[in-house]
Parts: sequence; C-alpha cells; structure tokens
Amino acid sequence: MRIRHKKNECIGCALCEQEAPEYFTMDEEGMATLLDFVQQGVFQQGQGLEVDRAKLTRATEGCPVNIIHVD
Ligand code: SF4
Repeated sequence: MRIRHKKNECIGCALCEQEAPEYFTMDEEGMATLLDFVQQGVFQQGQGLEVDRAKLTRATEGCPVNIIHVD
C-alpha cells in the first residue's frame, strides 16, 4: 500500500500517531511525519503493510484536515 502525507498542512492533532505509531510520529515542531518516506513534491510518500490497512484507514479517515491518503 502506498501512503501519502501532506505534512505542511498538518495541524498537529496527533491522531495519526495514536492510530498508526508504526508509521507516524510527531516531530519537534509538533507536526506529524512519516517515519520512513521519500519526499514527492508536497507529499511524504511511504509504504504500508497490508496487515496494517485497518489502522492506516483509521488514520486516513480520522485526520481532520484530510492530508493522509492510502491506496
Ligand atoms: S491526523 Fe492529520 S492533522 Fe492530525 S497529526 Fe496526523 S496528519 Fe496531522
């Protein structure tokens, strides 16, 4: 699964870190960042394991500014 995260629009609610701590952490500026990613334009892009689809979906659907995408 591909994960895309538009970090520069993060409002720092930390929901994604709570739902999927294997993938997201809060940085020193209080914004979520993917733990393992390559930068693709405005998006951080990483890979998610199929076994983690449910938690990544919760992060995606719970993000209040809709900046996490999984496909
Ligand atoms: S859920 Fe969205 S707004 Fe909240 S910390 Fe994660 S990326 Fe940022």
